[in-house]
Amino acid sequence: MSDRIHITTAIFYCNGAPHVGSAYEALAADVFARAMRRRHGADHVSFLSGTDEHGDKIRRAALAEALAPKAYTDKMSALFRDVFAGLNTTFDYWVRTTDAGHEKFVQEMLTRTNQRGDIYFRDYEGLYCVDCERFYTEKELLPGNVCPAHNRPVELISEGNYFLRIDKYRDEVRKKIESDELRIRPVRYKNEALNMLAEPLADLCISRPKTRLDWGIEIPFDNRYVAYVWYDAFWAYVSAPAARLGLDEFMAGAWPHTEHFIGKDILKTHAVYWPPILLAAGLPLPRHLNVHGWLNFGGSRMSKSSGNVRDPLYYETVFGPDVLRYFVMREVVYGLDGDFSEERLIERYNADLANDLGNLTSRVLAMTQRYLGGALTACATAAGGDDQDRTLAQALHGLAGRVSDLAAELAFNRALEAIWQSLDAANKYVAATAPFTLAKDPAKLPRVGAILANLIEALRVIADTLEPFMPVTSGKILALLNVDAATAHQPFGEGIKPGHKVNPPVALFPRIEKPQSA
Ligand SMILES: [Zn+2]
Repeated sequence: MSDRIHITTAIFYCNGAPHVGSAYEALAADVFARAMRRRHGADHVSFLSGTDEHGDKIRRAALAEALAPKAYTDKMSALFRDVFAGLNTTFDYWVRTTDAGHEKFVQEMLTRTNQRGDIYFRDYEGLYCVDCERFYTEKELLPGNVCPAHNRPVELISEGNYFLRIDKYRDEVRKKIESDELRIRPVRYKNEALNMLAEPLADLCISRPKTRLDWGIEIPFDNRYVAYVWYDAFWAYVSAPAARLGLDEFMAGAWPHTEHFIGKDILKTHAVYWPPILLAAGLPLPRHLNVHGWLNFGGSRMSKSSGNVRDPLYYETVFGPDVLRYFVMREVVYGLDGDFSEERLIERYNADLANDLGNLTSRVLAMTQRYLGGALTACATAAGGDDQDRTLAQALHGLAGRVSDLAAELAFNRALEAIWQSLDAANKYVAATAPFTLAKDPAKLPRVGAILANLIEALRVIADTLEPFMPVTSGKILALLNVDAATAHQPFGEGIKPGHKVNPPVALFPRIEKPQSA
């Protein structure tokens, strides 16, 4: 089995600016991607994100700004990319569904699926609101078949469209989900998906007549139509790697080990529509749907329309790099809804980052300068030493492996708890061994040297293990410790050697005394 992994975020529909909710998904996927690179090797992991740029809502958003759709999506896609870059995400692919290569690929998939026989044309009759430019079911309408958005009666119209046979694949998809061949996690979403697949499915309409909407990818076998925006966007997971590696090679390698990170609101499209779209094209399914909940802010869901959200980069600017990333990974259980509050973020910042991590780093580096002139005089004692030394070594022993396993299971909050237990052990070790007291007696300087060697090693292992969750901070601490990448990854006790010089401290997380104002 190939151990290559393909990791994706959802392809972001860019009819509004990215918010903390979109950032959460990108950050969770990035933590996972970084953790998997450490686990399997960087060249075994590809990480993909991008923007979904077709469809009516984009066309309307562009119109509202008096821009052509492409000019509008040029601007919006760049905005998403810049915000995610500012959050230190490490995408290998940034796909735009308006990229020429993507459009060509979608047309190839349509041709391929059509030739395999799973696309058909039929007239469709439905209740249509001209202002919404969409069909409604009777259930969605107000009494008298009135559009709930426009408060006007809808029209009964008939139009021909292309449909994909998806019910044909329902049993196969259900079995793959049941057996975890397509694993949906957490398991509550697996059960939801199985419920959605329990009843026959209406075939999926995959076209829109150009008379109604021309902002899309033309159907290659009928130039009167464009592809439905969801059909088009799914293929963004595949088009760019297929262009780089060749479709067959990508499908035989990383694709069956794909990890999709998606919000619970798009579980249906990914569990019910996407698998038949792949099967109808003769392609294998991804391995995991990793479904996350919503971030709530002041009691309601954070979203583009709710107006309760800030630019994610606000938190980078005001609190510093990694703080937003740390906060959402620590506070939110992946898969469940989480609460986002700036008050809580500041509490976490002061307690976890300023106190536990920042203070420990400063104190240890300051003592190393003061008592040892910055150069270590002893080896860390992985096994030997006294009871206090052994307690510290035990807390650090196997930390990297535990954190990696927890990250692989999407338990990001527990991975951080494990790191913070080690930090806690290191802070207790400082208090228990009291090197600042021992140092007053010159005869005890060798013991002070041993204590600081243990603490420097502890900091090294913690900083290294922290990398997926706090990449900038991890890099800063390792630079203060003056260690290279190879040394950084060593187990506790096998990294820094006597004679090694570390740098003087700098303040990593200055305490925030008052809540920041907007
Ligand atoms: Zn309407």
